[in-house]
Parts: sequence; C-alpha cells; structure tokens
Amino acid sequence: MIIRLKQGCDKNEALHLAAPFYGILVQDGGEDVLVISGKIQELPSILEPFAEEVIPTEGDFQLSARRYRNEKRAIKLSSGLTIGGTTTNCVLMIGPCSVEEEEQIEAVAQFCVAQGIRVLRAGAFKPRTAPYSFQGLGLEGLKLLARMREKYGLLIITEARDATHIEAVIEHSDIVQVGAKAMYDHGILKACGKARKPVLIKRGFGSTLQELVQASEFVLSAGNEQVMLCERGIRTFETKTRFTLDLCGVAWLKEHCNLPIILDPSHAMGYAYGVPDLARACLAMGVDGLLVEVHPFPAKALSDSSQQLNFEQFARLKSSLIPLAQAIGITLI
Ligand code: PEP
Ligand code: MN
Repeated sequence: MIIRLKQGCDKNEALHLAAPFYGILVQDGGEDVLVISGKIQELPSILEPFAEEVIPTEGDFQLSARRYRNEKRAIKLSSGLTIGGTTTNCVLMIGPCSVEEEEQIEAVAQFCVAQGIRVLRAGAFKPRTAPYSFQGLGLEGLKLLARMREKYGLLIITEARDATHIEAVIEHSDIVQVGAKAMYDHGILKACGKARKPVLIKRGFGSTLQELVQASEFVLSAGNEQVMLCERGIRTFETKTRFTLDLCGVAWLKEHCNLPIILDPSHAMGYAYGVPDLARACLAMGVDGLLVEVHPFPAKALSDSSQQLNFEQFARLKSSLIPLAQAIGITLI
C-alpha cells in the first residue's frame, strides 16, 4: 500500500508509526509517500491522520506500478537524451559482450559514431558461468569505457557483477546494468538505490515478472527513480535457442508497470542469425530501447561469441529498423 502524505504532517512520526508495517518513507516525483507492506489491504487507523490519499497495490509491486503512477517514468541521461517518459524514443544500446582490449572497444566506439548510436554497451566485470573462462578486464575495462565516453561523446552502459566493485561501476558509467545473475544481489540494489545514475535491471532467467519488479522496488524505495527493466530471455524446456524471449511478459510490463522497458534479443537467442528478426519484433513491441551485442570479429570474441553481430550485420539490421520505426511512430535513436 502506498500512502500519499498530507502536506505539513510530521513525516518522521508517520514513519515511526508505520514500523510494524515495514514502512519506508520515499521522496518520489517530488512528493513524500509512505510505502508499507503490500500485504496490508486497509489503511491502519494509526496512520489515518497522515494520509492524503491511499493507493492499494498488488502485493509488493508498488512504486513501479501504474496503479500508483500511471505515467511512464523518464530516464534522463547526462547528454540530454531521454529514455521513456512521454517520448516515443527507442534507444539503441550496442557493443560487445566484453571490453577485451583498447583496439576492439575503440573500433566499436567509432562504429557507434558512424551509425549515429548514442549508447555504447560492454561489460568489464563479467558474470561467467565457469571460473575457467575470461572474467572481464575489471577496472581496466571501466577505464577504457570512460575513455571512449570522453573521446567519442558516447554514453556508457556497463554491468556490475557483485557489490565489491559497484561503486567503481557507478563512477565510470552513465547507466548501471544489473545483470540477470545479479538481479537478487541486495548489495548491488542498495548501492544503485543511493546512486544518482540510471539503472537497468535485467530479468534473471529463472525469475518471474513479480520478482523482477520487486528487484526494481529496492532501488526505487531507496530514492533512485531512474530505473528501467530489461527482458533478455528466460529459461524454458526449449534447448535449441539459448533462452526464450518473453514478449508476453513485456506486454504485461507495459500494461502494469511504469518503468521504461528495454529488450535484449542477443542474449535471448544466443545465435547471431536470429538476432535481426528478433530485434525487429522487439522494436514492434513499442519498447523504450534495444540492447544488441556487436563485435568487430564475433568469432574471436572472448565471451558470447555466437550471438554477436559483426558491423555489417548490424548496419543492415539498423537500416531495416528505420522504416519499421517510422511505420509505427517510434523515434529510433
Ligand atoms: C550481458 O549483457 O553481456 C550479460 C551478461 O547479460 P545477462 O546478464 O542478461 O546474461
Ligand atoms: Mn553478453
């Protein structure tokens, strides 16, 4: 339940009285709201004197619910670019799975500029499934990304693998990516809540939509309104593709959730041949952005080599997205 507080009331007193209901006081969209356990269906009488308006919510799907705030939240990036809000933008975020070396990431940065892409993606801290594979360049990778931002004016999205390096990721990025495997990491979510940077949370491949929106609640309730969600495929019985892209889930999120939605066809498919068709389907879903893995030489990539598009493949994909975007009233950025 969300309680819009009366102007001039003693907020701290309200917070104190809300302790049995696990209340959290949040400054959201310029107003003070008290969020209490989603299990409470009726306003506790002790809180009545403080309540201007009461919004019952569905379980603990609260600040991210359209039932509370119907308008889609806007992510304002430092360059003036907006994701979500009242825009019709679909922002392309492209780049390799991992930063591997300066030459590789610089080639991608130059390709982004040539293609008019504003957001460069690449991981420096990689959450690999085995300890015997490339784990990312770590801090060195973040510094290379920061150099690309300075040199080419690109915005950087990069992921945090765990809470030990989250502050460095926040410092060096424009958007902090919380990876699918990190979706439940409360150290990361807490730090993202305090950060003044946009956050993109990827859906864990075994996570329900409810669990995904609840992960976002940890960030929102800690005071960071700049959150977006990313569907990147979930695990089903199917093994021919890497994961199954849950477009029904995206339709549900669009209807019920007030956060911008990003789609990642690359990790869902797992194979480059399927990514262009899926990317077009993703654009047609009317989402706020696409995350596509692009590498100068995918066969030589140190992670996710099978799913990355080469430059020519991406250029062809982008050309095919332009008329599609126009046809459905989307501004492709
Ligand atoms: C990635 O974006 O490279 C990545 C590791 O994605 P995910 O967390 O979705 O597996
Ligand atoms: Mn990857």
